Amino acid sequence: MGKIVGLIFPEKEEGFSCPICGKEYKSAKGLENHMEKEHQDGK
Ligand SMILES: [Zn+2]
Repeated sequence: MGKIVGLIFPEKEEGFSCPICGKEYKSAKGLENHMEKEHQDGK
């Protein structure tokens, strides 16, 4: 039996990623802006 290896997250700055296309932004505002520009829901 081997050791159970836990999930290791790569070093990464906290950020926000678009749930639709996966593009990452450093700020929520940047993502918000992206959503409005690229993924207009018509909302
Ligand atoms: Zn996107």
